[in-house]
Amino acid sequence: MATKGVFRVECPHCGESFDADFWTVVRGDRDRDVKELILSGEFDILMCPKCETMFSHEEPFLYIDPTRDLLAIVMPEAYQEKEAEWLERMKKDYEPLRASLSAGQGVTGDPMYLFGLAPLTALLETDRDREEETEVMEFMAREDGLRLLPVKPADARSLDILFTLPMPAGLTGRTAALKAANGLLARNDALPRLKNLAGALAAAKGEGLPFLKP
Ligand SMILES: [Zn+2]
Repeated sequence: MATKGVFRVECPHCGESFDADFWTVVRGDRDRDVKELILSGEFDILMCPKCETMFSHEEPFLYIDPTRDLLAIVMPEAYQEKEAEWLERMKKDYEPLRASLSAGQGVTGDPMYLFGLAPLTALLETDRDREEETEVMEFMAREDGLRLLPVKPADARSLDILFTLPMPAGLTGRTAALKAANGLLARNDALPRLKNLAGALAAAKGEGLPFLKP
């Protein structure tokens, strides 16, 4: 599913020029192996066919994960030197594409424009921690017969809460959700994002749950 493009690159060691494959689109929810390459720092590592030196070479690519409402335009780190210029150019290039992606793939959040792999890797690592913590909470919630409602991924990131919210069966609203979250916290207080979720619920007003997926 990952889409590749071919670019001409030059070996920084011996100067050999050769064609190399690069991913131009990575589907985070489908291309598990490519996602692992990003997380392990092996993404875009090339080997010179002549002198066999390994080196990294960045090309812009799209990282898309509709299940996590994520659309990131990842530019080479060096582009940051001319940040404004590149942002303008990338927005022009990707805005038309974005409309079709939003419609077809269910990505609703604003695209992120990132320089270098580091910010993407950091985001994916934090999401992975959040996923693990969410799974622990969900396991406990199911034991208690609670329902699980999906949180908007962008809000999960900005509030640093879990990807789902526990809710007692047959109930809706903030008070019931807060009671469920506090009940789970009483059983396991080692889940910082469940604590944040309870905090966010306690701080909100009214019965609405604005950070839930519609
Ligand atoms: Zn070389």
